[in-house]
Amino acid sequence: MLATLRRIIETVDKAPSLDAALSVLVREVKQAIGADVCSVYLTDPERREHVLMAADGLPADAVGRVRIPLHRGLIGRTAERADIVNLDDATTHPNYLAITGSGEEPLHAFLGVPIIQHRKVLGVLVLRQRAPRRFADEEVTFVVTLAVQLAAAIALARSTGELVGLPPDPGLPARYLEGIAAAPGVGTGTGFVVYPPADLDAVPDKPAADPDAEIELFRTAVAGVAADIARLGARMGGALRDEDQALFEAWRLMLESESFVADTIERIRAGNWAQGALRDTVAELLAEFDRIDDPYLRERGADVRDLGRQVLLRLQRGAPATTAYPEQTLLVGDEISAMQIAAVPRGSLAGIVSRRGSASSHVAILARGMGVPAALGVLELPVSRLEGRSMIVDGYRGRVYMQPSAAVTAEYRRLAAEERAFSAELEALRNLPAETTDGFALPLYLNTGLVLEQRPLGMDESAGVGLYRTELPFMVSDRFPGEEAQLRNYRRVLETFAPRPVTIRTLDVGGDKQLPYFPVTESNPFLGWRGIRITRDHPEIFMTQVRAMLRAAIGLDNLQLLLPMITSVDELDDALTLIQRACDELAAEGHPVRLPPVGAMVEVPAAVYQADLLARRMSFLSVGTNDLTQYLLAVDRNNARVAALYDEFHPAVLRALMQVVEGARAYGREVSVCGELAGDPRATPLLLGMGVHSLSMGAGSLLRVKGVLRSISRTRAKEVLGRALLCETGACVRRLCMEMLEEIGLGGLVRPGR
Ligand code: PEP
Ligand code: MG
Repeated sequence: MLATLRRIIETVDKAPSLDAALSVLVREVKQAIGADVCSVYLTDPERREHVLMAADGLPADAVGRVRIPLHRGLIGRTAERADIVNLDDATTHPNYLAITGSGEEPLHAFLGVPIIQHRKVLGVLVLRQRAPRRFADEEVTFVVTLAVQLAAAIALARSTGELVGLPPDPGLPARYLEGIAAAPGVGTGTGFVVYPPADLDAVPDKPAADPDAEIELFRTAVAGVAADIARLGARMGGALRDEDQALFEAWRLMLESESFVADTIERIRAGNWAQGALRDTVAELLAEFDRIDDPYLRERGADVRDLGRQVLLRLQRGAPATTAYPEQTLLVGDEISAMQIAAVPRGSLAGIVSRRGSASSHVAILARGMGVPAALGVLELPVSRLEGRSMIVDGYRGRVYMQPSAAVTAEYRRLAAEERAFSAELEALRNLPAETTDGFALPLYLNTGLVLEQRPLGMDESAGVGLYRTELPFMVSDRFPGEEAQLRNYRRVLETFAPRPVTIRTLDVGGDKQLPYFPVTESNPFLGWRGIRITRDHPEIFMTQVRAMLRAAIGLDNLQLLLPMITSVDELDDALTLIQRACDELAAEGHPVRLPPVGAMVEVPAAVYQADLLARRMSFLSVGTNDLTQYLLAVDRNNARVAALYDEFHPAVLRALMQVVEGARAYGREVSVCGELAGDPRATPLLLGMGVHSLSMGAGSLLRVKGVLRSISRTRAKEVLGRALLCETGACVRRLCMEMLEEIGLGGLVRPGR
């Protein structure tokens, strides 16, 4: 039964539309259980009825026609109780409702399973049997598992408007998908789907601009793969038995078959581009293979998938190299990388939307740094259907609207105008000192790291750079950059900000920051080989980077060096020895270098408990609250499913920060906070109250945080902190901070939903 279940789930998953998914499901489930009828009702809350959407075993015309009032009958009972109803003889139940014309009258056994998504009943999956009998436990769990799977497909179809015959969910009046608010702002534009190469499932739909040309491309790609197979067959010829040799012939036949070639061409003529048409052909063939009972023949489905991938690769290689981005590009993808963002011409990027990622992922940080609105972790995003679609991304609330109505567009225009007015108010703070009402200065630094930007946003406003992430220059390169290339890069940032200090962090790859030329595959990358752990194991990479930094600072002397992911003092001791060695070597080579101040990042709980020992060895400490929150709360910062648990205002995070400040104070060292919390205006009084010495944040936060700073005194900040430390939950801390912002008239700094 498990194999059948898996097969049905896969088929439903790959079905091109909800209708197709439902018909496959009712047919397969009826057969698997040996029932007389399997049907799916969807709930139409507007009309207060359950509508029969698919059925196997009922007259064909019942679908769409049979409608059961919301709370009537056993369907109504199942939906109302949001629980399973399993009856051996439904006809004797007080709720039994004979549905005229549905053909259900003589059926005795009844199993109703609610289809639930996010605690809301979307419909009911029903099994009926003529003879009275109770459905066995394993049959019930089988149907429940499928209902869960179906719920996601229905919710998606509703939000995209694909579900005809039912109105959109009344809870979502303007049809949008919900994700995580990852970078503030509103972006309006056209969907541009980015996807990994040679992945059939990731290929989006696109209209074929010139169907004849697309057909030609497809034919050429097929011929290319056929030639590859022939070559391979000839090369292996002598080494294979006859029956194995026949495999090559079978592949060729499959590749040139009517169902592969003609069907794809037909799909291209129907309007899709070659890659999308190929994806659908392969999906259909796979579904057919899945239905074959003979396990050997069924396995041949894998060959179809493989052939499809090879043709796709050829199509993608043959695609034009220059990409035409829409004027207002909304980058859409399952997962979006820093490189894909960097590839969009500046000024054309209006927003970022992806199925994976969260507010604390690096793409979110990059988006905020660039001032580009982003909604990430939009789990139900129908990526393949969004190419060329008009869309709105609301980065304040994490919402995505597809084909928005005129009313929604008008509402967002109004919001954008409000936003501009608010920014103008903030603008008035430019050039004013970052100090409290009682004259206490708290320097605000900039987080940056984009190799591409000449004059980073926020550069005039900041006291310097508090965190220069060096990963991006490494990511956009096709190999480890050498000393000279790094030197040029660091020199530019040091010069741009001199004489203000610039804190450059050594390479912090691993976790969610992968280098294309240095793949690290781990089952648990955030607990794996990352940051200092990698550079400690590869002193040659570390030394090259440190040498480049030290040389870049010659004559400027505004460099500070920062070490990421520190978990133990040994790591610091080793790193300090290497830095000293790099300095000595350079001096011996005749470079007038100086040993810069070196700091450690506190972003792992172990470092919190040893903050004093780290401080004793270092010139300063810098708290990375993004990772610290993730490791303290055991919540993956990129996992949309647990994003609601990721809370930088959690009392445990506050206590950890207090402990770091105390530990550093014991050795007279300064503490900076450079995680996203530092740029959140709600946190400003807390961090100020704790005695943190400086804050470092994305450009978009500088004026907002300065606004708060200039509106409160240090005494008031300490008072707020005292109350926050009494809170037992993050929600309590956030509420308190929000109330404080409202009191000083700065509630508008934080939009609803953030
Ligand atoms: C952090 O973890 O808070 C931090 C600043 O580093 P990154 O976000 O680059 O991991
Ligand atoms: Mg970090």
